[in-house]
Amino acid sequence: MGGELLRAEAIESGYGRVQVLWQAELAVAEGQTVVLLGANGAGKTTLLKVLLGLMPAWRGTIRFAGADITAERTDRRVRRGIAYMSETAVFAGLSIAENLRIGGQFCEPAALARRIEALYGVFPDLAGRRRSLAGSLSGGQRKMLGIAKALAGSPRLLVMDEPSAGLSPLFVSEVIAVLGRFRAEGLSLLVAEQNVQFLDLADHVFTIEGGRTRFSGTVAALSADDHLRRAYFGLAGEED
Ligand code: ATP
Repeated sequence: MGGELLRAEAIESGYGRVQVLWQAELAVAEGQTVVLLGANGAGKTTLLKVLLGLMPAWRGTIRFAGADITAERTDRRVRRGIAYMSETAVFAGLSIAENLRIGGQFCEPAALARRIEALYGVFPDLAGRRRSLAGSLSGGQRKMLGIAKALAGSPRLLVMDEPSAGLSPLFVSEVIAVLGRFRAEGLSLLVAEQNVQFLDLADHVFTIEGGRTRFSGTVAALSADDHLRRAYFGLAGEED
């Protein structure tokens, strides 16, 4: 594992005058997979948006690869190598190929073309339907396209907002398997989730409750904490 890639410290933000994040923190080391675990409304999406510059940080600092990016525009953060996959990750009215080109819009064209061909190798369902509209894909295929689109720009860090949303358990396992493959190639991942299956991928976990970071540590340490185990694993931990 390399040095530190991303660090967000003491982040405060919200909507209008309504504060949602309080002293929230996150860190991702090079090559690491970090899961941001939290219930509905805990503030995961808000924190990811602040990391990408889609919402301003009222207070706090964000550093990426050694640079202070707290006040930078979103496109500059993307050029630095942060890719964002939102819950609605693809443009339904555009083709698969067009979605991938948008994902890599800041790349040099020849490198992008090579990257997209490589991604078609990983996602054969997409390769067979390059000219089809993204809107014609199943929910699971759309999620795969969302991942491929985010990776088209060859990011250093892939930030994902609830990749499990709307997927059947079978597709959730497929998404985890695909992410595991890129993780093995050294991609750094930050995944906001409430589905604990994603902890299988995690080198480090942050939990967020009521807009505050509550826990930072390994999956083993998370499972050893009674309160957190009850909150995220239900009663399963007591049956061990
Ligand atoms: P989810 O799993 O539902 O996406 P989350 O952990 O991502 O949950 P956020 O979407 O970040 O949570 O929401 C955190 C808080 O901010 C919630 O109380 C929510 O009601 C509030 N909130 C979210 N979006 C807005 C908005 N556009 N305007 C006002 N409040 C908002």
